[in-house]
Amino acid sequence: MDRRKLLKALLAAPLAGVSGLAYARKKGMAMVEELQQNWKMFLAAGVTAPSPDEALKLSKDEWRKRLSPAAFDVLREAGTERAGTSPLDREKRAGVFVCAGCDLPVFTSAMKFDSGTGWPSFFTTIPGVFETKADYLIVFPRTEYHCKRCGGHHGHVFEDGPAPTGLRYCNNGVALKFVPKEGRA
Ligand SMILES: [Zn+2]
Repeated sequence: MDRRKLLKALLAAPLAGVSGLAYARKKGMAMVEELQQNWKMFLAAGVTAPSPDEALKLSKDEWRKRLSPAAFDVLREAGTERAGTSPLDREKRAGVFVCAGCDLPVFTSAMKFDSGTGWPSFFTTIPGVFETKADYLIVFPRTEYHCKRCGGHHGHVFEDGPAPTGLRYCNNGVALKFVPKEGRA
């Protein structure tokens, strides 16, 4: 399959009922790298995305004004939304998931899989958009990840994800906004 056909297939995948994950398994890590490098294909026409290096720093009060109470709790206070409450867990259209704090694109629809946990889950990310740290909020250490641009907490990454990455980015839906490639959200 040449590169153009491959990318076309990726975009059509959700519509054809074949998940990005199925493709990723078949093509292995090279496929994941393709997904990472070509994430802009999932941006809607005319949308310009900020870069991770354009830092957005606001005071706690400014964040409180800018975000919904639920998004503030997750992004700025490292809270966790109740499982199964996010409509984005069931979002299957082609498009891009952006940080609800600063609009930085962090995942595409082709990076998403159904983990059955009740939280939107992804097996990889757009490159360079998250930073991680260990957290000890519960007894065993977990790897927390947050937006590189605004510092907003998104979720935790676990090593029980699907092949080929074996990673599961367990993301609070309220920390994300979905921008469909076509049509309105
Ligand atoms: Zn952000």
